[in-house]
Amino acid sequence: MSESAEKVERSDTAWRELLTPEQYRVLRQKGTELPFTGVLTENRATGSYHCAGCGALLFDSKAKFESGCGWPSFTIPAETAAVEEHEDLSLGIRRVEVTCARCGGHLGHVFPDGPLPDGLRYCINSASLRFERAKVPGS
Ligand code: FE
Repeated sequence: MSESAEKVERSDTAWRELLTPEQYRVLRQKGTELPFTGVLTENRATGSYHCAGCGALLFDSKAKFESGCGWPSFTIPAETAAVEEHEDLSLGIRRVEVTCARCGGHLGHVFPDGPLPDGLRYCINSASLRFERAKVPGS
């Protein structure tokens, strides 16, 4: 069983203790951070993006692109199984919600307007992510 296949389940109280208020609002209450406010939106460093709730690897910096939408945007998850997608009919429109497959945390939404060849834009809240910079050889 891969690391990401083990589900993480915590009580609401435990999540509140573990997460910052903003992380809790986004990850556990399906909140959305204001556009252009997240610390990782403009991040261009090489590394990996992990779930801020459970640490699962979600995205690689190779898949990050400048969408201009105000949130970190990726063309593809690090592994297909890392995220789950759910129909979201809130706000009166059909969107596809993206959650962490391991802990169920809300990450953001995926839209069909990304760059080719995949044509997808995973629009992800910075608050849902923890960035790990790639180790530079010799440093
Ligand atoms: Fe997670």
